[in-house]
Amino acid sequence: MNIIINSSLDYPNTLDFDKDTCGVSFCREIDFKLIEDIDGIIIGLDRDESDIEQITKNIRQQSNFFIPIITLKEGVSLTTAINKLTDSIEKISKWIDRYDVKSLHLTEVEKLVVFMYLNKIEVLIPQLSTADMRYSYPLAEYFFSDLSTAAQQIMGSDFFKFIDFIDQYYTCNKCSSSKIFFSESCPSCKSKNLSFENFLHCFYCGHINFESKFINVEEISCPRCLKILNRVGEDFDRPLESGSCKVCEQRFTEPKLLAKCISCCEEISPDQLSRNYIYKLALKPNAIHKIEKKASESLELSKNTVMNLVDFIPIVNWLIGTMSHNNEMSITLICLKYNNNNFLHLKKLVADVLNDSDLIGNDHVNNLLYLMVLQPDKKHEVFLNHEDYVGYFGPQVSGKKCTVSSESNVSNFYTLLDSMDDIR
Ligand SMILES: [Zn+2]
Ligand SMILES: [Zn+2]
Ligand SMILES: [Zn+2]
Repeated sequence: MNIIINSSLDYPNTLDFDKDTCGVSFCREIDFKLIEDIDGIIIGLDRDESDIEQITKNIRQQSNFFIPIITLKEGVSLTTAINKLTDSIEKISKWIDRYDVKSLHLTEVEKLVVFMYLNKIEVLIPQLSTADMRYSYPLAEYFFSDLSTAAQQIMGSDFFKFIDFIDQYYTCNKCSSSKIFFSESCPSCKSKNLSFENFLHCFYCGHINFESKFINVEEISCPRCLKILNRVGEDFDRPLESGSCKVCEQRFTEPKLLAKCISCCEEISPDQLSRNYIYKLALKPNAIHKIEKKASESLELSKNTVMNLVDFIPIVNWLIGTMSHNNEMSITLICLKYNNNNFLHLKKLVADVLNDSDLIGNDHVNNLLYLMVLQPDKKHEVFLNHEDYVGYFGPQVSGKKCTVSSESNVSNFYTLLDSMDDIR
């Protein structure tokens, strides 16, 4: 277990922790290129909020995003912090190792899900940041390189359920920024140089003008025909228009609303803005199982692809057909049963013996089919004696018999497949 303590302070040399299993080193600056082998970080008292933010953000975007980070608190000894950290590391490392999380190519949302699961966090609560005018899930932010789409990515994933509606807001349809500037313009010439005031309409001469132009000291009178206007509905009325353009003099009831994105400077018609809804979210109970399944299925075995049976079986059939014309040729098919516990172990076994021409099939009901067109050799015996070995089809290897080159092999193959659960 490797722990680093990020601090410029001197700490006493009398730290009390298990030095056989845990290595502790001090560093003033963390080199994030060399962080791969670190299991946990303690941040010293001399670091401020922005240092902590920076370190956390850097770590959460690495392949070992899951490592615990502890910030020292006044009055807590470094020994206590180290022991607390090693406890956390032990708790999470079992799951991390089983699924070989570092080598999995998890998406940013999946990393967040793993982190929440390991830290027993079930709910994401959005917060409105007034500084950058947007909603965010603060805990989740560390995992995303593009913060403007983080909330939408999280809500669009299948890992969370919406538990409480919080708010609705608009974002730019080009760059997703929520920094939108609204303004009003003239419907005719689009100028934003407008004035707003009530109008009056004189029934005697038809003159329409600002109300202020009709008001004299004691009465309302028309500035054009000079008639005194006493009764609304008989002498005058108030037209609905209240806006006028100072450039083209057009009068209007409703100005045209314009939106401008402050981030990308795009002018957008408001009806084209993206409408967003933000919710309080809870991790779905099966979220972590989906990632465990992905981990189990993602065999990254050098150049060899892991295939679905739909693609895999036609290749086997074609090879069997070819074998009936060519006595020189043989295939070997080994079936291995995998589960969450043995998966990593089997993956390593297969990776060790794999030839470039070999193919791996996964039936997604926990059977791994290992197909070789080359003759199996001594190194493949490891499978035949393995407890997770289910079946074998191929030339004779160490007493496991099954000969190739006749019709019967086809039925042997299907008998083998039949012996596996729900395979076709
Ligand atoms: Zn105008
Ligand atoms: Zn008039
Ligand atoms: Zn924009």
